[in-house]
Amino acid sequence: MAALDDLMSKARELADTVGKATGELVDDSRVKLQELKLSSELKDAYERLGSVIYDSIKNGTENQSLVDLVVGEIDQIRENMEKLKASRCTSDAVERYCPQCGTTNGKDAVYCSRCGAPLSMAVPETPAEAAPAPAEEEN
Ligand SMILES: [Zn+2]
Repeated sequence: MAALDDLMSKARELADTVGKATGELVDDSRVKLQELKLSSELKDAYERLGSVIYDSIKNGTENQSLVDLVVGEIDQIRENMEKLKASRCTSDAVERYCPQCGTTNGKDAVYCSRCGAPLSMAVPETPAEAAPAPAEEEN
């Protein structure tokens, strides 16, 4: 069956993509490119799943193995996307350290998620504390 052969080669191609995505630390632009590629592959796979199901309903024939194959492919793409997302989160996470408590905040965070200190601008150092009140003399 030609469609099946096509799916099999698609699956192998996908396996290659998985290897590349997990085998190295990709930089951000490559991650974005991969994400685009994966989301278009996901769309294709959903379309194939739809046509496989449509055909089986239309012809009154069950083609469970073909359905399983496409579902497996979709699972693989989704898993791949999750991994990519995770690798991107990691690189984003280093963007903002809270100057007050050292908590790592998201790139777009305005306030520290832990202590609420403002992160909107680079705060070089903790501003000088208010001059300590002169010790009261208790005599
Ligand atoms: Zn903080």
